[in-house]
Amino acid sequence: MTFTPIKNHDLRPHNSLALPARARFFVKIDSLAVLQQARLFALEHRLPILILGAGSNVILRPYFDGLVLWMALGGQDWQPNRLHGGAGENWHDLVQKSVQKGYANLARLALIPGTLGAAPVQNIGAYGAQVGDFIEEIKVMDWASGQYQTLKGKDCAFGYRDSIFKQTPQRFVIVGVTLALYPSAPSAPLYPQLAAYLKQPNPTAQAVFDGVCALRRAKLPDPKTLANAGSFFTNPVVSRAHLARLQAKFPNLVFFAEGENIKLAAAWLIENAGFKGKRCAAVGMHAQQALVLVNYANASCEEVLAFAAQVQARVLALYQVQLKIEPQIY
Ligand code: FAD
Ligand code: NAP
Repeated sequence: MTFTPIKNHDLRPHNSLALPARARFFVKIDSLAVLQQARLFALEHRLPILILGAGSNVILRPYFDGLVLWMALGGQDWQPNRLHGGAGENWHDLVQKSVQKGYANLARLALIPGTLGAAPVQNIGAYGAQVGDFIEEIKVMDWASGQYQTLKGKDCAFGYRDSIFKQTPQRFVIVGVTLALYPSAPSAPLYPQLAAYLKQPNPTAQAVFDGVCALRRAKLPDPKTLANAGSFFTNPVVSRAHLARLQAKFPNLVFFAEGENIKLAAAWLIENAGFKGKRCAAVGMHAQQALVLVNYANASCEEVLAFAAQVQARVLALYQVQLKIEPQIY
């Protein structure tokens, strides 16, 4: 079998922000054999790699001068209280199936776009649940050596929208993930919006799943109709002293205690800085969710980053807080 990556491939359909971008080489990874061949090709031609799932958490520059690995490894092995899946499986479909099978712990993570293999990369989270809490193990290829390894959840340095994979991008190619499945949900309290929607203290997993889907559909722009990469900035964490200074100036500031530190709601900071619904040529912050940067029509990467820098500068000036961009930039 000859290995033939596609040359000069269009990446616009491969990123949910719909940025115009091309890759020097592109290959669909649908088996471990193809992955091995891709590695040899990249080594032979001294190419950097970019691992892509569904492209819903990336900001692409116009040209990637290397080899894109488009992760399409399939396979689902459902065991009692456990699921092992290939990296290319669709995340939301797995969550839906887990709820149908009577498991509750993934329900709050419904409708997050993307692949199973990317879920550990930023330790996807929503409504107080994080995938890292349910990961038993992850099968990876160490790109430098070409060897396969099995990492336990505790080896992955999971943090708030963070992991070893985000800290050392392109070091490990995640080929499969094993998730623990529980019939009862974690005890974290429901977020106020979800609790108000559900109107009951002990909802079933199906009710949580349906509620999360309804809230997200009502609030978040669907990338198929309005290009975006979800939350553009992470929620900043500050000290209690910093909070006290801010509260003196902004009594309505929205924040949450996280141990000794304070998580500020980035959406509130951005809205209060006047950017909610604000449009600048082809880009803007969404009118219903100030944290989501949208591409109205044919925006370039440069325009997106310039607009993001405007938001960051205003937020820094007002609150002395540096907003960090959540998607990775390639
Ligand atoms: P990609 O965007 O393709 O890749 C993301 C990163 O992971 C890249 O750095 C890539 O190199 C790396 N990567 C991908 N696959 C692999 C692999 N197999 N091995 C190693 N590295 C890999 N995120 C949340 O946490 N919570 C949310 O609630 C949420 N809501 C969203 C809502 C919308 C509308 C959108 C557009 C995005 C949202 N996101 C959310 C962000 C995004 O959906 C997640 O980060 C998702 O896990 C990305 O999956 P992907 O397959 O699209 O990854
Ligand atoms: P929301 O419920 O309106 O909440 C706004 C912000 O307040 C969120 O950022 C959330 O932090 C925080 N928050 C709310 N209640 C909280 C509580 N009880 N304890 C701690 N923090 C609380 O948010 P939303 O925009 O509708 O999104 C709902 C969920 O989906 C959130 O968890 C959000 O992170 C997630 N989401 C993520 C993305 C992404 O791309 N990363 C995109 C869309 C939605 P957290 O963000 O830490 O949860």
